Amino acid sequence: MEPQCEGRAHNEGNPFPEALLSVVVPCYNEADSLPFFADEFARVVGEMRKRHNLSFELVLVDDGSSDATLDVIKELAKRDEGFSVSWISFSRNFGKEAALYAGLKRARGFYVATMDADMQDPPSLLPLMYELLVEKDCDNVAARRDSRKGEPPIRSFFSRLFYRLMHKMSKVDIPDGARDFRLMKRPMVNAVLSMGERNRFSKGVFGWVGFKTEWLSYDNAERVAGKTKWSFLSLLAYSIEGMVAFSTVPLSIASVAGVVMFVLAVLWGVYIVVKTLLFGDPVAGWPSLACAILFVGGIQLLCLGIMGQYLAKVYLEVKDRPLYVVREVSDEQGLR
Ligand code: UDP
Ligand code: MG
Repeated sequence: MEPQCEGRAHNEGNPFPEALLSVVVPCYNEADSLPFFADEFARVVGEMRKRHNLSFELVLVDDGSSDATLDVIKELAKRDEGFSVSWISFSRNFGKEAALYAGLKRARGFYVATMDADMQDPPSLLPLMYELLVEKDCDNVAARRDSRKGEPPIRSFFSRLFYRLMHKMSKVDIPDGARDFRLMKRPMVNAVLSMGERNRFSKGVFGWVGFKTEWLSYDNAERVAGKTKWSFLSLLAYSIEGMVAFSTVPLSIASVAGVVMFVLAVLWGVYIVVKTLLFGDPVAGWPSLACAILFVGGIQLLCLGIMGQYLAKVYLEVKDRPLYVVREVSDEQGLR
């Protein structure tokens, strides 16, 4: 049987046809990886078209790349390999989260997948993800890495620490090893799109919207070409962003620290009074006083910093700037 949707005009009554699977890929300086990705994607599409009654749409978001990514995307859009290509190019680099949001907004399928361009999210998993999604009573299938093979140990250590902390601090379920590689059904996509916040942390967003998730484990794959865009510092900033976006526990730490300091001060005061009554010498101990002042000063700065983090996020949300600015987009195309 032929795919049911051949073009937009045919889908007017049904804006998100069930027989269409969209794949959203954020691309930042991926000119070297995209050709590998496109070839593998075309192979997977060929395989899935034979087995399922599906059409495919590839949504590529150029996140202000400074290399030839956009040219590669435009070339790809000209090829006819059993899927249509729809693309957006940002006016500058707005970050992966903004690129994902833009891509999800543009996707027209009932089934929507998000994945990276560097083959660390292997397209060959898509058929299995689709089958699981159709067979099981779930709303999305999410991939998670079993191992962190090939990753620097220090990066793995801090990642694990982050997930452990998040697990304790937030009700949102973000398992260790979870990636932004998912295949979702339309209701979940719409729920994700309804969260228009600027401070986006997609692993948290996917967890926050809920829905039933089927996890699919796979071995870590290394980047096919190019370099990772995340330095240690940018990952650290991203983790802090995630915590601030999905937990208010750090704010409670500030209050608890205040209470603990108060209790310590009272106990210390009692100790000094008793000691003075028993042994005299009321003015001894300025080094301990200096330590205490530094300690309290440090705690106060920490608490101010925590509050500052939240205040900064409120400031950014209140300004209500767009999540991204588009420089160029592809024409609407008929679906293949
Ligand atoms: N990416 C993006 N904008 C950015 C950084 C990354 O769109 O500012 C894309 C990138 O092109 C890739 C995906 O996000 O498709 C994951 O990036 P990367 O492979 O650098 O991250 P890692 O896998 O090392 O965590
Ligand atoms: Mg990668």
